[in-house]
Amino acid sequence: MTTAGARDARSDELAAALATTRRSIGDAARAAGREPDAVSLLVVTKYFPAEDVLRLLELGEREFGESREPEAGRKIAEVREAVETEFAADMIGRVQRKKAGSIARWARRVHSVDSLALVEAFDGAAHRALDAGHREERLGILLQVSLDGDPERGGFAADHLAAAADRVLASPGSLRLDGLMLIAPLGMDPSAAMGQVAGIRADFVERYPEATELSAGMSGDMETAIAYGSTCVRVGTAILGPRPILSH
Ligand SMILES: *Cc1c(COP(=O)(O)O)cnc(C)c1O
Repeated sequence: MTTAGARDARSDELAAALATTRRSIGDAARAAGREPDAVSLLVVTKYFPAEDVLRLLELGEREFGESREPEAGRKIAEVREAVETEFAADMIGRVQRKKAGSIARWARRVHSVDSLALVEAFDGAAHRALDAGHREERLGILLQVSLDGDPERGGFAADHLAAAADRVLASPGSLRLDGLMLIAPLGMDPSAAMGQVAGIRADFVERYPEATELSAGMSGDMETAIAYGSTCVRVGTAILGPRPILSH
């Protein structure tokens, strides 16, 4: 672990990329007639080491996205041990039900909840984490929307969202319904995908007015997502560079 606070060439590289990304987010928000701070930036640090999270904290970032458990939980714990700075880490990747327990100990929210069985698993897991003092707040739940029904990418078809949302709301002691999440289907025009999800979200928010988050947009399509109302872009490559190939 590097000493917290040591500024190196990697920090400079991250700082430059962050500035560019933050500028693009601001420009896209203003172009859509939205306030730049209506869109939060989740820096996706999956596959990158704890040292990069420390550098990003040093640069002022406070929200991170991770996608692989247990790698994610270990990394977050390592960072929390190294510095006292408060930050939030979200789970954004496909979740195996048996990992719900460990994820509920570190995640502020889970973006990628894609089945009723997973809602059930997180209900129990968040209860246990709260009881054991591993977390203080309820676990935020974003329901992943499927536009193409692709089981590989997962998610709820639009007409199954309400049943899932009602199940989240049935557990007010452990779960909080935050909103929706989209991974644009491969091969689908991003504008078409975002336009479709914007319509689904408008109906959803009418029925669940508290669930206003829309997590949509990655390095390649964040401007489009912001134009269609995204409140949270999940950006990895544009900030950290190409992900290292790891053997798992
Ligand atoms: C990896 C990942 C991202 C970040 O993608 P980039 O193209 O690197 O910005 C965003 N969302 C999810 C769900 C991911 O798994």
